[in-house]
Formats: sequence, structure tokens, C-alpha cells
Amino acid sequence: MDNTNEERPTFVTHLECSMTGERYEADVLQGLSRDGRPLLVRYDLEGLASALTKEELAKRPEDLWRYREFLPVRKAENIVTLGEPRTPLQSAPRIQKTLGGGPLFVKDEGRLPTGSFKARGLALAVSMAKELGLKKLAIPTNGNAGAAMAAYARRAGMEVFVFCPEDTPETNLREIAMQGAKVWRVNGLITDCGKIVREGVEATGWFDLSTLKEPYRIEGKKTMGLELAEQFEWELPDVIFYPTGGGTGLIGMVKAFEELEAIGWIGPKRPRMVAVQATGCAPIVKAWEEGTEHAELWENAHTMAAGIRVPAAVGDFLILRGVRTTNGFATAVDDESIEAARTEMAEQEGILLCPEGAATYAAYKKELASGRVSAEESVVLFNCATGLKYDMPPVTAALDRHQSIDYAAMI
Ligand SMILES: *Cc1c(COP(=O)(O)O)cnc(C)c1O
Repeated sequence: MDNTNEERPTFVTHLECSMTGERYEADVLQGLSRDGRPLLVRYDLEGLASALTKEELAKRPEDLWRYREFLPVRKAENIVTLGEPRTPLQSAPRIQKTLGGGPLFVKDEGRLPTGSFKARGLALAVSMAKELGLKKLAIPTNGNAGAAMAAYARRAGMEVFVFCPEDTPETNLREIAMQGAKVWRVNGLITDCGKIVREGVEATGWFDLSTLKEPYRIEGKKTMGLELAEQFEWELPDVIFYPTGGGTGLIGMVKAFEELEAIGWIGPKRPRMVAVQATGCAPIVKAWEEGTEHAELWENAHTMAAGIRVPAAVGDFLILRGVRTTNGFATAVDDESIEAARTEMAEQEGILLCPEGAATYAAYKKELASGRVSAEESVVLFNCATGLKYDMPPVTAALDRHQSIDYAAMI
């Protein structure tokens, strides 16, 4: 059933500066607030609560648009979709047993279009771009956001400009190009790419779709929290490990839980949000440890987990707030343990993680051992992209079919 053609009630009332609370008008083009902070979408939650019940929701197709009342698109005709399914929560019983931890789940976001959870954010951002009449979008990206933007924006007939660090995973670069975007390798980091996009706005007329610099990607990522709550039958897990770059997903999930509590669908109990970073790029971990409100720019950022190689995040204070208000923490793991964790999960559970997803598993192991997470706590790890996009160790074993085969040596 195509549920995008229905007339749909929407409940957006206004946008709000995430730092000062200042109100901004919805339904007009907005970037950051006057103070240079992300804008959050606010809803008439009372209206929403009286328009939708859990029972009604349960009857809908299992996709992202089942949460339409929680989303900002006003006209169904503006929805740009590639079919965004509900992603599965895979249990990991063998690993759980080996580690002696609590119930362990992997939320496998690699099932989404373009193979990553960036599809959630960009489906919303591009749909809103369409609703607001934009024709040209530009984005700085470590790969997956650019791929998702290219797919959705080309589907909507828009022009797409993408700027990647030169060492962005090769599959990402090529899928971006193949999906009709103009894409450039930049000899710098995502922050340098962001500067090129920002400074090009005037000369090109493109819209800057950088993480959190427009209000709607968060709303798409918010559906991870809505979906998780529904999958857990409105009793949330105890701890969520989230690989944190720009932090949209962590911020979005915290927002989802606030909205669900406001309409009475969940209680005050929150999962402890754990921001996972790489030791080669851990600005949020440093800020969390030092107790500061903002994070400093991380110099010489490096890690194999490209999606979390983000030296500075405009939503740093929102990530830190999300971690602190839920009694969570921030933690970093090195590339070696990321690689080992990726292999282990694939071999033990048949779940092929992306490096960022593997970082969450490495972090869980570390913090279960340290005692920061207890053996009673149920845990969800976020695997944000399909592992198939990333390098895997080469296979060297070969057989000569013309020689006699030593079967005994195989087993
Ligand atoms: C973008 C990305 C992340 C980080 O997500 P944020 O919500 O921006 O922090 C993690 N993993 C992968 C695979 C990504 O593409």
C-alpha cells in the first residue's frame, strides 16, 4: 500500500532555536538560528495525541512514513521516497552469552535505501526542500549523507553538489557520482568541505544541506527513536550505543523520546545515551570528560570509521545535553578494536557491520568490562550502514581443480 498519497494532517507549529528557545516561522526557508544554532521543529503535541493512537499506528505499513503525524511534510505530494522500511533489531545471543552481558540487539540500519541511516534524514530534508521550492542542494559529507542526498534529490529532479574528503570510502564516492551528483574530492576534512559549501552559497544559489544547518534532517533521524520505542513495545532499552559524528541521530532520538513522553506513550524512563567516537577523533568524549558545554575542534582527526570523523559539530551542545540528561556517557575506541569487533560480530552472529557500527560494539565490550554498563542492562547498538560498502580482508585461499583435492586438510 502506498501511504504517501493520502491527505495527511500535520502538526508543526513553529521552529525553535535550540540554544535560546527563540521562535521562528515554519513553512519558510530556514537555516541556522540568528545565534548560529540548529533550529528544532515544534509540534502541536496535544493535537497529535488526539489524532493518533498506538492501535491506529500499529495497522500501518512498516515504514518511516507511518510516523507522518510526527513529521513536518505538509503535502503528501512533496514526499520523496525510495521505500524506507522499518529496520530490524537483531539479537546477538552468542556474543551476549560469551560476554555475560544483558540482552543485546543490533539495530541494522544498513537495510535502508542507499545502505545507510542517512536515508532517514535526507528523505525528510529533501522532501522539505521540495516543499519549500528548492532546486539546487549542496552538502559536505564523509560519504553516506552525500549518497543519500544524491539519491533523494535526483529523484526529486534537483541539482546536487557534493564535497567529500579525498579519502572518503570509494563506494560512497562512486555511488554519489552514479546517482547524478556533481562530486568533488577535497584535500581536507569534512569541516573544510563545509566551508566550501558555505562560501559558495552566494555565487551558486545552492542551499546548504549540512548536518543540523537546516531543521529537517533531525526529524528524519528522529524516526529511529520512534521506531525503537514501538519495536520495544513502548518500553525502551536501558542503554543505546550510538556512533557519533554530527550527532543528528542521538539528538533526534532524544527528541523522539521527549515527544513520546509528552503525548503519554512512554513514561519518564530514558535509555542512557552513549556517544561513541574513535580515539583519533573524539571531541565529544573530551568535552564530556571535561564537563564543558561545547566541544573544541579536534586537530588532525583520523580514523577508519569515516562517518564519525567529524572534528567539530554544530550540535555539540545538544549531543552533550542528550548524553548528560539521560545519565549516559561518551567513550572512544581505537581503530584496532573497531576492526576486531567488526570481524567478531560477522563471525559470531552473521551481522556484517560498518566500521562505525563496529565501534559501538567495541565500546560496549569495553564499558561492560569497565562496569560503566552493567550485566543487567539491555543494550542496543546502532549499525548505521551496510558493511558491504566498506573494505574487507582479501581472500587468498585458492584451489586448482585439475589437481587432486585434499579434503581432509579443509576441515
Ligand atoms: C553519518 C554516519 C554516522 C554518524 O551519524 P551522526 O548522526 O551524523 O552522528 C555514523 N555512521 C555512519 C555509517 C554514518 O554514515
